[in-house]
Amino acid sequence: MKLKLEEKFAGQYHKNADAVYFTPGRVNLIGEHIDYNGGLVMPCAITLGTWIAIAPNADHKFRFKSLNFDAQTEVESNKIHEKNGSLWANYPIGVINEFIKDGKEITGLDFLYYGNIPIGSGLSSSASIEIATAFALNHYFNLGYDKLDLVKIAKRVENDFIGLNSGIMDQFAVAFGEQDKAIVLDCESLKYKMVDVNLGNYVLAIINTKKPRELADSKYNERVQECQTALTLLNEEIKLNNLCELTAEKFALHNHLIKDETVLNRATHVVKENDRVHLAAKALNSGALEEFGRLMYASHQSLKELYEVSGKELDTVVDFCSGYEHVIGARMTGAGFGGCAIALLKKGFEEDFAKGLTDYYVERIGYSAEIYVSEIGNGPVRL
Ligand code: ADP
Ligand code: MG
Repeated sequence: MKLKLEEKFAGQYHKNADAVYFTPGRVNLIGEHIDYNGGLVMPCAITLGTWIAIAPNADHKFRFKSLNFDAQTEVESNKIHEKNGSLWANYPIGVINEFIKDGKEITGLDFLYYGNIPIGSGLSSSASIEIATAFALNHYFNLGYDKLDLVKIAKRVENDFIGLNSGIMDQFAVAFGEQDKAIVLDCESLKYKMVDVNLGNYVLAIINTKKPRELADSKYNERVQECQTALTLLNEEIKLNNLCELTAEKFALHNHLIKDETVLNRATHVVKENDRVHLAAKALNSGALEEFGRLMYASHQSLKELYEVSGKELDTVVDFCSGYEHVIGARMTGAGFGGCAIALLKKGFEEDFAKGLTDYYVERIGYSAEIYVSEIGNGPVRL
């Protein structure tokens, strides 16, 4: 890929690229919809990602081109604080803007991007292009930021420049990912632990349902509200800052306070999903991959039945997986209502799985899902 990007760079800008970098995308292995309840998430970097090639220019301009999009953009260095409509280049522009606001002198650069993460499917191509840009500039100009600084800068770009109210997990996972390791992360305190994930004879299959995540935003806000209601009710008997301070046992002692069945279901998911993250870390630490797979299925079941954020497409994928001999665990990943599912698939069965799933999915949904095979990869690197 490096060579191809260098070649394209030369074609685009009629000079050689000076440096090429890679930054991964991410999936969340388990711990879904609990980050805003003080719970733990367990993301990892994947081997799909974003490549970036850069070289300086003497024109005091920033030029942006991506092989994934037609539009190409040129911005004067002194106009970098202006958002350009809904253009993709706002992601790198936002990053450069943050560096310049912080007093760094960056001017005159040509950029070429390429990503093989399916865009807009919940594998965080946005965090990947943000961190790719931030990491590349920090390294190239020796700006002196550490990885956590870059994560916070990228999150500011997503929240304030792009205008999406997302948490910090995506940028953190993309920047801190390590090969064959998952990150157990508390998104509030940013305390984290790396856990070894030895997939052995298995690979991570990523299944893009191709269903747009239309409902995700409004339902997300509704779920945040329902969890807040549960917390207020529980606080009549116990002092809690968030739902994830409760173990399942302790929750059982107090859940009579929640009379509304829906709210009770939401809180039950949160408490048990958080327990599952701890169990999953334990399982991975002891190499019990099948136990980890069972926890993935349990997580999906809970997101479907109790938290109600799955959907026909994601359920169809997981249903197929649970009946397929060579998958030991599968679940929806991300906010839900569409986007991607993940599965632990035995090596050597990639084609058979893809064929079987495609037939099953098309028959029930009417169009094809996309299937990717990934390993757990590293964070950003210069190539
Ligand atoms: P995702 O779930 O993939 O993060 P988002 O909607 O948050 O979806 O971000 C997708 C957006 O990020 C794209 O519409 C585009 O603006 C930008 N983007 C991601 N990857 C690339 C790329 N390789 N080249 C150009 N823009 C990209
Ligand atoms: Mg995104």
